[in-house]
Amino acid sequence: DPDKALIKTKKPKKVIDPETIILQPVCLSSGEHITIGATINNSIMDSEQARYAGADEVGLFRTEMSFISNTEIPDEDDLTEEYLTLTNVFQKLPVTMRMLDLGSDKLAYFQHMETEENPSMGNRSMRLLIRRRDLFRKQIRAMLKASHDKTSIIFPMISGWNELDIILEFYNEHVQELSSETGNDYSHVKLGIMVEVPGIIERFEDYVKEFDVFNIGTNDLIQYSLAADRNNEHVSEYYSASHPSILSMISRVCNTAYSYNKKVCLCGEMGQEDKYIPLLIGLGIRNISVPFRKIPHIKSTISKYDLKECQELAKCALTCRSSNDVDDLLSSTQLIVQNMNHG
Ligand code: PEP
Ligand code: MG
Repeated sequence: DPDKALIKTKKPKKVIDPETIILQPVCLSSGEHITIGATINNSIMDSEQARYAGADEVGLFRTEMSFISNTEIPDEDDLTEEYLTLTNVFQKLPVTMRMLDLGSDKLAYFQHMETEENPSMGNRSMRLLIRRRDLFRKQIRAMLKASHDKTSIIFPMISGWNELDIILEFYNEHVQELSSETGNDYSHVKLGIMVEVPGIIERFEDYVKEFDVFNIGTNDLIQYSLAADRNNEHVSEYYSASHPSILSMISRVCNTAYSYNKKVCLCGEMGQEDKYIPLLIGLGIRNISVPFRKIPHIKSTISKYDLKECQELAKCALTCRSSNDVDDLLSSTQLIVQNMNHG
């Protein structure tokens, strides 16, 4: 219920210029395909617009919205209908749905739970769902019912195998239960994890062997790696996507996953910033997920870069000592590209 003054400060939504829409996966100037997916926060409002904007897939469906916007916990049928809206619009295209990524701080109906000093590192995401098996069951059954043969389900905020063993056990039980009820087979559904707690990267191969899809969530990966709250403006200078350790982690995740032929998608805000695009490509990223309004712009930015140049840039960035050094390197690259584009 925003007041009028706040509404006035909000710009009207930009309409996407149809001329700028590229419906096919975009190529670098050297010919390699890059997939640009849509990050969807609200399947009812965003699905069709994302298709129209040229999304090659749904790289990340954040399922929190229907839980935040209702005072009651949505039931299984409501969730199924919501998820079907998305899979129907993206019928033959990959869709990655993420299980609920919320903590007790965000759910009105959980406010009776213990208050936590640091909810973003507390009883959040899969930790909460493990304790609330009723929610886990409801959500997973709705996702399975809405799935098609290119659907993946990913688990957020994974920090190790203890929780994954429990999650996989729950998952398999619910798949069996639903299969015997419906007679359907759900083995087409791929499973994946968010790569956002840095502790898993040191042993990344252990995860790559067992899962198919890896979504790098740089928003959280940066805050947890650099100990800088992503929402705290007082430490914003410590929260830096250009930090050389973040770049090394991205490169390591790509190399390990590709050596097992597994999918990596970068779905944090870092992927929406022009200056990081050539660097990310050079580090190995071939799949980025962004809010649908950004898709035409990101696709046109990508088409300007050559793979070898991106790889040279990444090689150089990986030798930098600090974020400031990486930022300087990136500004000089931006200048070169701007000059090239002005002939
Ligand atoms: C991330 O952490 O980068 C991410 C995409 O997830 P969220 O922003 O929803 O935590
Ligand atoms: Mg996250």
